[in-house]
Amino acid sequence: MKTALTIAGSDSGGGAGIQADLKTFSALGVYGMSVITAVTAQNTQEVRSVQDIEISIIKDQIEAIFDDIHVDTVKIGMLSSAETIEAVAQSLQKYQPKFIVVDPVMVSKGGHHLLQLDAVSALKEKIIPLATLITPNIPEAEVLVKDTIHSAEEMMEACLAIHALGANAVLLKGGHLNGDPNDLLFDGENFTWLKGTRIQTKNTHGTGCTLSSAIAANLAKGASLIEAVHEAKRYITLAITHSLNLGKGHGPTNHFY
Ligand code: PLP
Repeated sequence: MKTALTIAGSDSGGGAGIQADLKTFSALGVYGMSVITAVTAQNTQEVRSVQDIEISIIKDQIEAIFDDIHVDTVKIGMLSSAETIEAVAQSLQKYQPKFIVVDPVMVSKGGHHLLQLDAVSALKEKIIPLATLITPNIPEAEVLVKDTIHSAEEMMEACLAIHALGANAVLLKGGHLNGDPNDLLFDGENFTWLKGTRIQTKNTHGTGCTLSSAIAANLAKGASLIEAVHEAKRYITLAITHSLNLGKGHGPTNHFY
């Protein structure tokens, strides 16, 4: 069985973060493992508090896994602080996994900072150059390239700028723009648009986590980058179509329906 590791934060409500990643891995038939970087006290309405995990424990989790178990793919989510970024980057440089899919998690839908503001430059310098693929949404891309993105042309420019930071490929998710959610993949040579149709639901908690984990799982299973992204877009579209009306806020995506 192929194996997938998520390095990310825990969402006590089970909709995003480590929990969404492991559910996605299971649904796609890969063996899931986790390195927890931070614990969030969270439900469908809000992030109430965050506790970063001690750096030595983060490093120990990574080493315990890689020293014993072959890792086919890595997905990176919430990293929280510059210190955590430094530790994760160092460890990944040591073990050199074949695929690293980076979801540059910054702010929750409710507005809680999941990456400290002073950690953005560390993310750019230490993590992005390791990425097989980085999957920013529009607000995250705007932070990374220090510009506003309103149009298809500006999405293309942003992809080029993020690629220039050292990522092997960029998937810029267009869901925050008006109209249908069209995503743009730049693989270093070619642009590919992935067209979507907007699904009318408030239950979109954990969509970014789910998409990036599905891409990582598909890469582990042998898909090409473009196949992995197309298949993951199909997966997240269905997971949102079947999303769960749990809690009073934004309910989670559904992996088993
Ligand atoms: N909590 C954790 C631990 C996450 O990793 C993420 C997103 O990546 C979120 C919350 C935010 O999820 P959303 O913006 O879908 O509410």
